Amino acid sequence: MLHYDEPLYRPPSEAYSLILQATIGCSWNRCAFCEMYSTKKFRVKEEKQLFEEIDSLTMWADDIRKIFIADGNAFVLSFDKLNRILDKLNNSFPKLNRVSAYALPRDIAAKTDEELKELASKGLKLLYVGVETGDDELLKAINKSESFDVMSEALQRARKAGIKLSVMILNGLGGKHYSKNHAINSARLMNQVQPEFLSTLVLSYPKGEDHYKTKFNGSFEPLDTTGLIEEMGYFIANLELDNTVFRSDHASNYLVLRGNLNRDKNMLLTKIAEVLDNLDNANLRPEWMRGL
Ligand code: SF4
Repeated sequence: MLHYDEPLYRPPSEAYSLILQATIGCSWNRCAFCEMYSTKKFRVKEEKQLFEEIDSLTMWADDIRKIFIADGNAFVLSFDKLNRILDKLNNSFPKLNRVSAYALPRDIAAKTDEELKELASKGLKLLYVGVETGDDELLKAINKSESFDVMSEALQRARKAGIKLSVMILNGLGGKHYSKNHAINSARLMNQVQPEFLSTLVLSYPKGEDHYKTKFNGSFEPLDTTGLIEEMGYFIANLELDNTVFRSDHASNYLVLRGNLNRDKNMLLTKIAEVLDNLDNANLRPEWMRGL
């Protein structure tokens, strides 16, 4: 039987996947804006227990095609552990065609090219990476413990190994002070990485704005709606992508944007300009719908 240690999160696109919790919590758990796993102390589930959970699903073996390995950054597991888990999953579910997980860029950096290729060949086909920003100063302010160069190299290596990437950027993350550099450097990072999927979410304050300010290493002055949409405009204007599915339609977004980049870049920028020209009558999500 599956045992979940709640709360359990998965990306929206994994709604029909089996969720297997191989790790509990996030191994970092210190980003200024994130409270997702603050109630959990990170640990790795015992392999024996995980394999028993997998064995308990054999009666549905032919129905299981997609598996998401939770929690926060299950890709932190060593190559050997992930390799054994993938072998077990492939042996148990003959119709399995995709395994995915959340990853930190440094979890990818810690694996060799050959290891990444081996994991991809065994079905680990998609990683969700919360990059948040490509701006080094802002990365320090939010205590992400990542850098532009390490992220760029790690993410490019994953793609070269055959792992697709779904990357998240946080709109409004640095407030007024960092806004322009956040937009420009995040776009620069995306241009180097060329992820298959890119989405933006708007910064939210699960424990209130003051709590975020106390964890932010610098001065934080939040962007208003105009500032958030202008930041999106700078970001998209600076993107040079070959073929990336772009989504800005998470519940947190005021303005819903969808397209394929760069094909739809002008359409998205026109939409943003129109909204900024006539903000009072723009079709933005009201606060109650954003119910974060
Ligand atoms: S944003 Fe990601 S890495 Fe940072 S604490 Fe949250 S789950 Fe962990």
